[in-house]
Amino acid sequence: MRKRILILGAGPTGIGAAHRLNDLGHRDWDIYEQHDYIGGLAASFTDESGFVWDIGGHVLFSHYDYFDQYVDGILKEDYLAHERRSFIRMLNNWVPYPFQNNIRYLNKDIVLECLVGLLEASKNSRSAAGNFRDWISATFGAGIAKHFMLPYNEMVWKFPLEEMSKDWIAERVSVIDFERVLRNVILERDDVGWGPNSKFKFPLHGGTGTMFEGYRADLGDHLHLNHRVRSVDLESRAVEFENGEKTSFDVMVTSIPLDELALITVGAPESVRDAASRLATTAGVMIGLGFKKPCPSDKCWMYFPESNSPFYRVTYFSNYSPNNVPDSEHYSLVCEISCPPGEVDAVGATAVESSLNGLVAAGLLSQADIDTVVSTKVIKLTRSYPVPTIARDQNLKHAIEFFEGHDILSRGRFGGWRYEIGNTDHSFMQGKEAVDRLMSGEQETVWTPLP
Ligand SMILES: Cc1cc2nc3c(=O)[nH]c(=O)nc-3n(C[C@H](O)[C@H](O)[C@H](O)COP(=O)(O)OP(=O)(O)OC[C@H]3O[C@@H](n4cnc5c(N)ncnc54)[C@H](O)[C@@H]3O)c2cc1C
Repeated sequence: MRKRILILGAGPTGIGAAHRLNDLGHRDWDIYEQHDYIGGLAASFTDESGFVWDIGGHVLFSHYDYFDQYVDGILKEDYLAHERRSFIRMLNNWVPYPFQNNIRYLNKDIVLECLVGLLEASKNSRSAAGNFRDWISATFGAGIAKHFMLPYNEMVWKFPLEEMSKDWIAERVSVIDFERVLRNVILERDDVGWGPNSKFKFPLHGGTGTMFEGYRADLGDHLHLNHRVRSVDLESRAVEFENGEKTSFDVMVTSIPLDELALITVGAPESVRDAASRLATTAGVMIGLGFKKPCPSDKCWMYFPESNSPFYRVTYFSNYSPNNVPDSEHYSLVCEISCPPGEVDAVGATAVESSLNGLVAAGLLSQADIDTVVSTKVIKLTRSYPVPTIARDQNLKHAIEFFEGHDILSRGRFGGWRYEIGNTDHSFMQGKEAVDRLMSGEQETVWTPLP
């Protein structure tokens, strides 16, 4: 327990690690963050007009008691519990999510096409599929693949689906059985309860980021903001920051992107840098739009698989909390656009205009509504979704195991680069369990060894 532990990055992973160290009563630790705020991708921002913005529409759902207790401790009674009201915009129609369970909302030709495809697919073996694209067709059949699963996933990932693995799917994609779909169609039954986020919480004040800003006081003088890591030296076990400061460590939990970590680590072999550089990411632009108008809908979020929309998802963000907007005479939308990393500036430059046009095309806004926009917020992310490529695990294993050999655990959304365990709760728990492993050799359960 005399080890000096350094935490790089004050997002959910870093805060999970810090919280655990506080729980354990350990004293010799520090957390360093490049920004002047904490929360990472789960941070929120309040603009001058009083609109609160998350980085994309975050919803809080958890798989872990430890994270639940942390959240309860921060939010206490100050949260709202929601039931998901989520839809897919298709062929000028709203289909309740998950699409595959609610195809009855489509016209009869398409319903038939989907059912025939599903029946065919039920005879296939999904395990034979060698990549995500083939897995989609083998699982959902030609109709659902063509009308929703392929175009939607192409919108989100902006990455060739045939180069993506199918091994990450588990609870991230709702798979189905033919009988259930048929029953829903014939009995005209809505089937909307699937998935871990069918119920979710949202902070009453300050957006998702409140869950982490609310912990700031507990970080005390262990927290060092505006410290961007410049280099990590394995031999001298020292970290240098861009402001010239230096610090030392015995062990480390880091959530800075693994490809960056490999580049800035003095003593990292070329093979590790090369492996980390092959990890793929989607980039994204998040567009907040604030309107001077009461909210016209009770929906939570909507998916947009059709190519005439620039975004893959839009959230009625003011429906998550009335305090996300100045008052009930205002409402807000958050649109999310994916793109390859090299295009993020170009997409960001026209994102407000293209989002407004897309919202008009989708029937969410009229031309007149555009005049009621009183606030906009554009957030560009060079990394938004860690892509589970076919080669990912091999490259990841090489890089992760190298750092583990030096008592550096790289964890979290881009520290660990595993989308399937890349949500807020997973990341927080990875931070917590990394501390337990480094301090007392306990086995991690969220981060499992790579195959
Ligand atoms: C569009 C979008 C929507 C999402 N929606 C949800 C949702 O609905 N529900 C959910 O549970 N999760 C959601 N997530 C995921 C959630 O945001 C992440 O799981 C979580 O933020 C990951 O935490 P982290 O600490 O691992 O990484 P991050 O949040 O990325 O934190 C890493 C931190 O490291 C810092 N850092 C990076 N480089 C350096 C450096 N060189 N020096 C110092 N500091 C550095 C960063 O500034 C950052 O603060 C969403 C993510 C995105 C992108």
